[in-house]
Amino acid sequence: FTVAACFMGALILVLAIQYARKADIVAFDLERAIIAGEMKPYYQPVINLKTGKLIGCEVLIRWVKKNGEIIPPGAFIDYAEMSGLAIPMTLSLMEQVRYDLEDICREVPDFKVSINLFEGHFRDGSIVEDIQSVFEGSGISYRQLVFEITERRPLDDRNAANRVMSAMHKLGVRIAMDDAGTGHSNLAYLQTLGIDIVKIDKIFVEMIKDASQPVPVVDALISMAKDLDIDIIAEGVETQEQALYLRSKNVVFAQGYLFAPPMKLSSFLVLANALRPG
Ligand code: C2E
Ligand code: CA
Ligand code: CA
Ligand code: CA
Repeated sequence: FTVAACFMGALILVLAIQYARKADIVAFDLERAIIAGEMKPYYQPVINLKTGKLIGCEVLIRWVKKNGEIIPPGAFIDYAEMSGLAIPMTLSLMEQVRYDLEDICREVPDFKVSINLFEGHFRDGSIVEDIQSVFEGSGISYRQLVFEITERRPLDDRNAANRVMSAMHKLGVRIAMDDAGTGHSNLAYLQTLGIDIVKIDKIFVEMIKDASQPVPVVDALISMAKDLDIDIIAEGVETQEQALYLRSKNVVFAQGYLFAPPMKLSSFLVLANALRPG
């Protein structure tokens, strides 16, 4: 028995070391990449379905390696969170966004910039100071900023969440619930939290196959958000049918491959110029 226990213990130890090593290597690489400026903001247009014009963008991180390889966030954001690099990574991204989008935000006062937050950044409340330290006195005003938090994980401390949200609202920024409908909270709870916008996840938008065939789940999400006076952005819109359906339900804001994928700054600015309102 003791031999078996020792063997199991040794095996667990070896596996743990290997796992830690792997995470460490990625963490080391990530840290270097952040410092080297390889973590880049890509920008996906958000469109007004009624006018076809641009209303703003969502910032989506890409790891652009020196050899030109582009790594999507799914491959590294969990490691960033595990290794404590999520906040430095977000700060580096916000700094770049500030310089990338200052001009367009000055020129188009209604332009909105949406930034994804890690749960830890939001939970520990340091996000409030970080927003100020990056954007205070910049060409991007607080009312042009939206911060997205995801519904995938529950906000375990509602009082703390409430405090952070009030502080953010006091600054004048708005808060969006990402992946709405996929997670832990119902919309009524979102309203008590003070969520300003819900982003209807692409798994719901995918259910729309035909512009005139009702999709009850989508309709329910939309009507609840409207009743609660929460703005709606539909994400993952890939087909004209989906766009038409959403428009017929008075959903005005949308993003998706139908309009444009996330793009590097230079391409985004060209498109933004072409789709500029007014
Ligand atoms: P998300 O915030 O829900 O972002 C939407 C994802 O859908 C993005 O994937 C986007 O490229 C993709 N997408 C956009 N339009 C379409 C479409 O029409 N069809 C389909 N199939 N997909 C579409 P991406 O860029 O790979 O990001 C994946 C997730 O990684 C994001 O999901 C978000 O949760 C996270 N993420 C990305 N950037 C950041 C960041 O800067 N900070 C944090 N905390 N999380 C980020
Ligand atoms: Ca998002
Ligand atoms: Ca989303
Ligand atoms: Ca999503």
